[in-house]
Amino acid sequence: MQNLPNKFVAGSQEWCALPQLDVAAVKARVDSGAKTSAIHAFNIEPFTRNSDQWVRFDIHPLQKSRRATIRCEAPIVGRRVIRSSNGATEKRFVIRTPLTLNGYTWDIELTLANRDAMGFRMLLGREAMSGRILVDSEEEFLLGDVSEADIELLYGKSSPNRDDGLKIGLLASDPKLYSNRRLLEAGEKLGHEMTFLNIRQCYMKLDADSPAVHYRDGRVLNNLDAIIPRIRPSNTFYGCAITRHFESLGVLCLNNADSITQSRDKLYSLQLLQKQGLDIPITGFASSPNDTDNLIEMVGGAPLIVKLLEGTQGRGVVLAETTKAAESVINAMKSLRANLLVQEYIEEASGKDIRCFMIDGKVAASIQRSAAPGEFRANLHRGGEAKLIEISPEEESLAIKAVKTLNLDIAGVDIIRSRRGPLLLEVNSSPGLEGIEAATGQDIASKMIKAIEKQIEASTEPQPLLVQDVA
Ligand code: ADP
Ligand code: MG
Repeated sequence: MQNLPNKFVAGSQEWCALPQLDVAAVKARVDSGAKTSAIHAFNIEPFTRNSDQWVRFDIHPLQKSRRATIRCEAPIVGRRVIRSSNGATEKRFVIRTPLTLNGYTWDIELTLANRDAMGFRMLLGREAMSGRILVDSEEEFLLGDVSEADIELLYGKSSPNRDDGLKIGLLASDPKLYSNRRLLEAGEKLGHEMTFLNIRQCYMKLDADSPAVHYRDGRVLNNLDAIIPRIRPSNTFYGCAITRHFESLGVLCLNNADSITQSRDKLYSLQLLQKQGLDIPITGFASSPNDTDNLIEMVGGAPLIVKLLEGTQGRGVVLAETTKAAESVINAMKSLRANLLVQEYIEEASGKDIRCFMIDGKVAASIQRSAAPGEFRANLHRGGEAKLIEISPEEESLAIKAVKTLNLDIAGVDIIRSRRGPLLLEVNSSPGLEGIEAATGQDIASKMIKAIEKQIEASTEPQPLLVQDVA
């Protein structure tokens, strides 16, 4: 097998082959600044063969393309702790396999890197060069290029769908819901493979070597590129646990689990927002009923708003018009051990508020919602009406700062217009699409899918050395 060369010069990128893995051509970054070599693998599963430790994995040999997938098997020669550029450490398998370069073939060790690890599919470090390769970093493909025609022969023709189509999971509860239907439809239309995943039918395996998300029908959900979590408040705990597990598998989540969890706690979110200096209605919170009087005074007295910390769709929001009413509502809720906020009532908003639909840090669309007659809550679920609205630069900036603070890719930011300017009411991490698409005529679902495309594209940009060997 070994046919060792004398020294030769390679460029900073070269085409290699891994004959025992059936990889006829893979573009590698050649970097003597990196100690170890790595290959971009996924669906990594260790197994035992004749009492030896082996590992099975898939690779996409073509950079920035998913059109070819090669299933590989190799014996494990070790495990390595890798520290990535952001400081996180991870344990990775190391395999030993022959490398062919410049007509010579010799054994090298390869770390199986996670999908998010690097832009190049393969990194050839100095250990694998074993003193035989000199790198001229100014040059590329000194050992020969592979033509597009050769790539077609090896891996089939390129087609837009197979090349860029992503596997996207919609993690939700009801596929018939308007928002979910729209997201599935928009993803398919843009050439992606969309899968509806019912949160309650997912379960997970925690294991340092082979963590996984399983589905009740027997599938292992380890080859998804992205997840769109649409978690109901009643499912927050489990839905976020599954989302977090996908994150640990290197799957992009459009709203990460920690941000969703955080946004579900109204008090905590308001604390984070006001810490960033964002204007909110004066809000009070206390644990003991003994403090009710002071709480009422603190927010400027009646009329005032009482809100359950875990309410949504306007359900837990009450307007107390007099001090007496405020006292009885607060004390009644307290006696039921409910956590509640007491808030200044913005009367001048006259039952209107603004919903900004935020995608990737920008306002994708905004509507004004007006409460039904006799109602102060503008929620569409409470019969509110929506219409397209032009927001002010101040409101736009408030919405942008809010999603930045709460680190949400997708959010509905609710703003209320008060005498002293726009105030932030709340930030919703699973905003509905129906009202906003109907009122603005905008295709919000497609914009959300495009946000995934953009983030994935950015994460697969070729980057120099990202992994660092620590053990
Ligand atoms: P939910 O999560 O249930 O939607 P919100 O805090 O968004 O709770 O309140 C629901 C609606 O009640 C808002 O959309 C707004 O119309 C009205 N509202 C909430 N807080 C106030 C307030 N402080 N002053 C006036 N109206 C309010
Ligand atoms: Mg709301």
